[in-house]
Amino acid sequence: MPRDILIVGAGIAGLASAIALSNELSIVPGLNISVYDGASELTTTGGAISLTPIAQRYLDELGILSELNQMGEKAGIEVDAIDLFSVRTGRRLGPLRFTDENGNGYGGYKGRRVLRSSLSEAMLAVARKMPNVSVYYDKKLVGGNTTAENVTLGFEDGSSVTGDLVLGCDGVHSATRTKIVDPGNRSEYTGISFIQSMADTGSFTTSMPFTQTAVHLARHSSLLTSYYDPKHEKLFVAAIVRVSEHLIEKYQAMSGTDVSAQKNMKMSMRYLVRAQFGMSNLPYIREIIDKTEDWMLYPVYQVRQRGKWHTDRILLLGDAAHAMPPRDESAAYAVEDAIIFSKLLGQNPDCGLTALFEEYEEIRRGLVNKAFDASRRLWQSDLDKGLFPSQTRDLMSPVHLPPGDCVKRRSLEPIKKTNLPAPTHESFSDLSVYSLTSDLGRTVDATNGD
Ligand SMILES: Cc1cc2nc3c(=O)[nH]c(=O)nc-3n(C[C@H](O)[C@H](O)[C@H](O)COP(=O)(O)OP(=O)(O)OC[C@H]3O[C@@H](n4cnc5c(N)ncnc54)[C@H](O)[C@@H]3O)c2cc1C
Repeated sequence: MPRDILIVGAGIAGLASAIALSNELSIVPGLNISVYDGASELTTTGGAISLTPIAQRYLDELGILSELNQMGEKAGIEVDAIDLFSVRTGRRLGPLRFTDENGNGYGGYKGRRVLRSSLSEAMLAVARKMPNVSVYYDKKLVGGNTTAENVTLGFEDGSSVTGDLVLGCDGVHSATRTKIVDPGNRSEYTGISFIQSMADTGSFTTSMPFTQTAVHLARHSSLLTSYYDPKHEKLFVAAIVRVSEHLIEKYQAMSGTDVSAQKNMKMSMRYLVRAQFGMSNLPYIREIIDKTEDWMLYPVYQVRQRGKWHTDRILLLGDAAHAMPPRDESAAYAVEDAIIFSKLLGQNPDCGLTALFEEYEEIRRGLVNKAFDASRRLWQSDLDKGLFPSQTRDLMSPVHLPPGDCVKRRSLEPIKKTNLPAPTHESFSDLSVYSLTSDLGRTVDATNGD
């Protein structure tokens, strides 16, 4: 049983791993779980993240949801349904529900939209309450070395640490992956970017017809608008669009330049959003775009499928192992990775690390590949012919939509503390925005076939 566990990255996978391991290994004497993050402090950027019911359920299991719920306005909002609209005609296409007909969430959990920074704050607060967890910032991993007895990590500031087990939770551009576990396996740009910002709704004059969250579908892009505070005074806006690598390089080169150059860049981001969605028949979309400033570009990267996930003492979790094209459930996969590995370790104290890593991979690989393939197929079809050809999409009416039925109602099994495998994401994968929209795509295809 490893006693000195080193976790690289204090993001979703890293902090979830620290908390889950601390819970599962509470009886291990002398246990030390140390989390090292390259950033100088907790992230305050990244907009508002969508959490699926299963993500919420796992966060609840780790005590993070109750921490979040005590944070007042920063707790975000629960999402009952995502309202879909056509950008071109302005028609409402239907709701994608996270609840059953009685308004109950699946297994008691709905969706949630919360600032990424608030989620991180709640996770960090829980991690810091655990007796054997320490979190260190300004510790950027630059390399490492493994021997038969232990593993040593080296940081940019010249310091190093030695432990028995390393979890590489350092995100899509992971140094644990590219420098140690699978050198050369660098992240790839998906071709898709989020151009996003936040707006105060106080100055808006046009009424907005959605309840909590809406996705406005255009031919090759979509615009997400979502409140993220209970009073609906704040709106998260994200255009999910194709952006060339050339523009991304230009954007990144300007990030360190003077204020006026950055202002110009933000204005050109708004111009891009306006060019995609400004002609909409929905007047509030034009107002949102016009009154929202500080648009930022977030390119989406992925990690090549079937890459290596572990060496003798190091295992990759979360985006470091399997970042995929956008799905609103990647955070759930990261938390699930953490919980499953922690349970495996806790329930098999006498098992060698290599055998454990192989068992973990056996449980996770197929599921992750399936999710990755589904996500890629969806975006590939967008590349070829539009996510939903907008004209056929506009033919859809709530009559054609399967709002209640497209979400298969499956009860949430309680996580078993003693048996493996732990429940996986698979039974809930139909609850993501993107897989729901692909259900809708099939409905459109079927309608066209008639
Ligand atoms: C634009 C965008 C929008 C998204 N929206 C959603 C959404 O709505 N819902 C959803 O479920 N998922 C969403 N995702 C995906 C989701 O953000 C990721 O799947 C999730 O954050 C993965 O968690 P992680 O802990 O693996 O990585 P991260 O959250 O990226 O955390 C990695 C951590 O490692 C640290 N780190 C990096 N390099 C080093 C290093 N060398 N040394 C030490 N530390 C290091 C970083 O500082 C960071 O804290 C979105 C992704 C993008 C790009």
